Amino acid sequence: MNMKLVFAFACSAFLVACKAQVPPTAPATTAPQALKPVAPPASPKNIILLIGDGMGTSQIYAGMIGNNNFLELERFKQLGFIKTYSFDNIITDSGAGATAFSIGQKTYNNAIGVAGDTLAHETVLETAAKSGRATGVVATCAVTHATPASFVAHVPHREMHEDIAWEYVHSPLQLFIGGGRKYFEQRKDGRDLMAELRMRGFYTATTEAALLEVPQQARLAALLWDDAPAKKNEGRNDILPRATQLAIDRLNTNEKGFFLMVEGSQIDWGGHANETDYIVQEMIDFDQAIGKALDFAEKNGETLVIVTADHETGGFALAGGDFKTGKVKGAFTSTKHTAVMVPVFAYGPGAEMFTGIQENIDIYKHIMNLWNLQPSRKPVRWEAIKRAN
Ligand code: MG
Ligand code: ZN
Repeated sequence: MNMKLVFAFACSAFLVACKAQVPPTAPATTAPQALKPVAPPASPKNIILLIGDGMGTSQIYAGMIGNNNFLELERFKQLGFIKTYSFDNIITDSGAGATAFSIGQKTYNNAIGVAGDTLAHETVLETAAKSGRATGVVATCAVTHATPASFVAHVPHREMHEDIAWEYVHSPLQLFIGGGRKYFEQRKDGRDLMAELRMRGFYTATTEAALLEVPQQARLAALLWDDAPAKKNEGRNDILPRATQLAIDRLNTNEKGFFLMVEGSQIDWGGHANETDYIVQEMIDFDQAIGKALDFAEKNGETLVIVTADHETGGFALAGGDFKTGKVKGAFTSTKHTAVMVPVFAYGPGAEMFTGIQENIDIYKHIMNLWNLQPSRKPVRWEAIKRAN
């Protein structure tokens, strides 16, 4: 008998045994009881949820340094943190991260709108739409990408872009603005989902000029790029803040209020690429969109604005910088996501619910509670969602 082999086998058996004893990511202990609020929070008419993908505190401060020591984010007075771990990993991906916000369940990495058992749960956007609220999605990536997709679609894996596109066609959305047109028109099944969108009552727009022509009350599907738009520091214009303003103006015509999700999608990509300037410019761009939401909420008085992130990306640290030149000296510990808590900012009726340290799934719970909503559909097998047409 080869003793080396026996030793190697024993070692691997030991490792397997060790692995089996690692506790699951989700801690078994119950969360500490939060202090009861002294008065029930007021219910907002509208909710705008802005997600900075990969936006940790270093990304935010890098944006401040790059923007003459100011971000719109500094207007918020109510702040908290969320724990971002997913069902199966202390480090979440954007699928599980956004699904935590959209269905209120910790799920496995790569999941889109489905829980850990792949059952499709009604998303907060879908429930809001069923209650008569107008709903919208704006992103600086393909609309089929993990973050926006998690509010609209239900598939077991984030790479199922064509299935996700199909769910956009059948969604209750009043509007969506982003990229990913190729998943609607260059499909393996040969279908023309742009035409199918129009059949379902959407006006489609593939350019910014066309987008501005769409009548105010009409449903709007703006697919402005084949996939993702360019980086902000490589020529993308200020479409994100402008699309945010346009979405607010359009959704605000609905008497029963609205739910809008806006994503600063590429802060994360700057982190993955370990490119400090990419992060800084995406952060400032996202912050401009936040400013539009805050300006509206201040005037409107019945709008809750929530800004948060799904996770941090890059293990980004600030090794230096100069407010005068706007130069930031970044350092990275990773090209991936990290496990740190990320901040939450809230303004408007119910904002106090988002302070302190909470779980990412609490964002969903607070929105549903503030609007006194329950999902109208029980969880179903993901395949059962509208596969037939
Ligand atoms: Mg994203
Ligand atoms: Zn990422």
